[in-house]
Amino acid sequence: MTTDLKANKIIESNHLSDKSSIYVPMVATIKEIIPLTTTEKQFYIQIDNLKERENFNFLPGQFVELTVFGVGEAPFSIPSSPSNKEFFELCVRNVGSVSGALHNMSTGDKVGIRGPFGKGYFPFEKMQGNNVVIIAGGLGMAPVRSLLLKILEEREKYKGLTLIYGCVDPQNILYKNEILKLKNRDDIDIKLTVDRPDDNWKEAVGVCTNLIPELKYEPKETYIVVCGPPVMYKFVIIELNEKKYHPEKVFLSLERRMECGVGKCNHCHIGNKLSCVDGPVFSLWEIMNLKEAI
Ligand SMILES: Cc1cc2nc3c(=O)[nH]c(=O)nc-3n(C[C@H](O)[C@H](O)[C@H](O)COP(=O)(O)OP(=O)(O)OC[C@H]3O[C@@H](n4cnc5c(N)ncnc54)[C@H](O)[C@@H]3O)c2cc1C
Repeated sequence: MTTDLKANKIIESNHLSDKSSIYVPMVATIKEIIPLTTTEKQFYIQIDNLKERENFNFLPGQFVELTVFGVGEAPFSIPSSPSNKEFFELCVRNVGSVSGALHNMSTGDKVGIRGPFGKGYFPFEKMQGNNVVIIAGGLGMAPVRSLLLKILEEREKYKGLTLIYGCVDPQNILYKNEILKLKNRDDIDIKLTVDRPDDNWKEAVGVCTNLIPELKYEPKETYIVVCGPPVMYKFVIIELNEKKYHPEKVFLSLERRMECGVGKCNHCHIGNKLSCVDGPVFSLWEIMNLKEAI
């Protein structure tokens, strides 16, 4: 079976196999919690039921709906590699009721998980044999990390690999140690930038769009992935157009206020599309004429 067909089968089975249970969360256990910054924590989640765990197959760019029982539910992207079948990771910023309650939880506590959701994903199989550029801003590193880890696991299948990652300040860099370790490899080019450097900062200063003109990859053999705060997209797209990168090879994760995750409630519409079931990853080609997208 081709990788494209495999991906479609995963998406199909996640969405269609058991329609009766789309609102019923699976019970899962928090196995480990690691603080990443002062506002983000990494949660290692294991689905309790073995059969449900085995059937939980996700693709880079997909997300889950997480329930803190008695508090509520919120969508979170999966930043870990799909190859890890035992548990998956979530990187959660403490911003409100569900994320705040989750930040107060401990190892061994139970949560609910629905998903994985999203039809749009980062098409890692199409990217094989091409250069890949990942552009992330702030918390946008979480969804694209799954793709980055997947590519690094099969590095020989791809040509050049560049990560451009911009944050407000050095303290806000997610997965900082992991990224600094990657900087020692010669098969990935890591370009970091911050708005507010400290005295030890030796990388670029300014927004991540400033680093796009440095890209040397040929458009016809280059895929670009973008995820970050809404304000970033418009300026990144201007720079990518300037470099003549092809809109059908540019993929953006568009997060919208989301409720059901399964295309029923209509909260996350972008023009005639729903971010939860048509995205959250869209090609620039798909959305370039949708006024509300960027
Ligand atoms: C597909 C998808 C993937 C996501 N992945 C992650 C992730 O990996 N890590 C992470 O930390 N967060 C992620 N988010 C965002 C997360 O779902 C929201 O921050 C969510 O509101 C947290 O729930 P809460 O109950 O803690 O916050 P709430 O109490 O609901 O809200 C807190 C504050 O955020 C505002 N807010 C809530 N949702 C949104 C939104 N979608 N857009 C703009 N403002 C909003 C509220 O108005 C309020 O001011 C993702 C969202 C989507 C749609």
